[in-house]
Amino acid sequence: MNYDAIFIGGGAASFFAAIKLAELRPDLRLLIVEKGKEVLQKVRISGGGRCNVTNAISEPKELSTYYPRGGKTLIGPFSKFTSSDTVAWFEERGVKIKKEADGRMFPVSNKSESILNCLISEAEKLNIEIRLHTNVLDIEKEEAGWKLHCADSAFTCRQLFIGAGSSSRIWGILKKLSIPVIDPVPSLFTFNIRDERLSDIPGIVIADAEIRIPGTKLSERGPVLITHWGLSGPGILRLSAWGANVLHEKLYHFGIIINWLPTHSVDSLKKLIETIRQTKGSGFPSSKSPVETFPARFWKKIVQASGIADTVKWADLNKVQIAALIREITEASFTVKGKSTFKEEFVTAGGVDLKAIDFRTFSVKTHPTLFMAGEILNIDGITGGFNFQAAWTGGWMAGSAMAEQTEL
Ligand SMILES: Cc1cc2nc3c(=O)[nH]c(=O)nc-3n(C[C@H](O)[C@H](O)[C@H](O)COP(=O)(O)OP(=O)(O)OC[C@H]3O[C@@H](n4cnc5c(N)ncnc54)[C@H](O)[C@@H]3O)c2cc1C
Repeated sequence: MNYDAIFIGGGAASFFAAIKLAELRPDLRLLIVEKGKEVLQKVRISGGGRCNVTNAISEPKELSTYYPRGGKTLIGPFSKFTSSDTVAWFEERGVKIKKEADGRMFPVSNKSESILNCLISEAEKLNIEIRLHTNVLDIEKEEAGWKLHCADSAFTCRQLFIGAGSSSRIWGILKKLSIPVIDPVPSLFTFNIRDERLSDIPGIVIADAEIRIPGTKLSERGPVLITHWGLSGPGILRLSAWGANVLHEKLYHFGIIINWLPTHSVDSLKKLIETIRQTKGSGFPSSKSPVETFPARFWKKIVQASGIADTVKWADLNKVQIAALIREITEASFTVKGKSTFKEEFVTAGGVDLKAIDFRTFSVKTHPTLFMAGEILNIDGITGGFNFQAAWTGGWMAGSAMAEQTEL
């Protein structure tokens, strides 16, 4: 079967590319092939079922800093289609989008179906054909375009868009076409830590902590959540994204140092403790935290880890105990042994090497009729709607460029 353009994968990037091309060239015959039983499966489960569709940051340069890999290459594309354009795109099609306090943006309905249904109904309106249960097994370059081989069918097209996400099969095929691929490693994961200081207090959030990985330049500041199995929260997830390759090399076994109170210097902490010793010396350190932001159960763990018994009063603390207390607050050392998936959003670092892509068109430099965007590329963002934004922008740019190319 012959088409003008085929889109491999029924995900965010393919839908945006196909819809853009169909809007500009309604005369073309377009097909989306999806191996699964439904399209947009990741949109459905994204953001805990709410779909964190983009982020409120829209200035291209600033937006690009939220991508551990591929940020620089996205500055140009974001100047053509940025997060505010995504919001306008969905709102023009009847899906209201809201901003949450931390900048993440969701459909007002709080349901990913709103996004999913909008994309499917746009595709239907524009007569874009969709074939489910169609797994592309091989891609062949022909003189006039491309041939796709599936289990019991084959398709040809002049232009090909690949939005197959993190697909090792497709990466393997691309390598055969001499398109360089960087081996994938996970990004956005939580840290597994077994430590008495974190046991029995899951759910506690320290809103502003600083985490660094000794021996590397990796350091992040942000909320940290204590879980049943270790640490999570935006600060940890961001660190996992920026450190995806280094931490993979370390086989996810490494040390971290946490400053639970980065707003205070060691000197100011010393003064605070001295003041408490002089004014409330008869009180017990274990009974009340001098730091308002520390929950009582968390503070108790810090006091215990500093070797201070419940019966010791502030006035009786010796130098060693004071030093231990300050160390547990400002440079608590933990050992990470393994990682866990962050269920709300997980992505892969790695994919098609960005050197191979012309970011004005999202086409492959050596194959001008081959386009790709989304997670198939070596681009990934931190959590917060940035990964979808890269897929929307890339899809939109590719669809526009495909329309221009067919004009030639
Ligand atoms: C649980 C979870 C939650 C997430 N939540 C968010 C969020 O809230 N916000 C955010 O920004 N990002 C989120 N992400 C990341 C985001 O979903 C991805 O970055 C985004 O979906 C990438 O879009 P894509 O179109 O490139 O690929 P995908 O959405 O992965 O789509 C690729 C499609 O291609 C199909 N395919 C693959 N190989 C073939 C083949 N050989 N033949 C035919 N079809 C094929 C797949 O079945 C799939 O449907 C989340 C990810 C996960 C896993």
